[in-house]
Amino acid sequence: MSVEQVGPRAPADGLFIAVEVEEWAVRDRELAAKLAEVCPVDIYHAGARGIEVVREHLDECVLCELCLNAAPPGAIRVIKRYDGDAPLRA
Ligand code: SF4
Repeated sequence: MSVEQVGPRAPADGLFIAVEVEEWAVRDRELAAKLAEVCPVDIYHAGARGIEVVREHLDECVLCELCLNAAPPGAIRVIKRYDGDAPLRA
């Protein structure tokens, strides 16, 4: 399993889905733990440096919005690469 730190300038990219995390949120370990708990397909990982994303799991996203509900407004963007880069919950 490869995990990576993500940010607005370095989104974690799958074929169909990408995830961006704002700079001010990425080192929030409490939020990282919450995201790891809510995502049903384990896209988020709570790393020592904060929010990390498991690249191999990105395209399993079921668009449930649980991560968006768990995070402060604007902290995370789930981007639908297959839909002209439309954000989930525009
Ligand atoms: S929308 Fe659901 S499946 Fe997709 S990353 Fe967020 S919590 Fe995970």
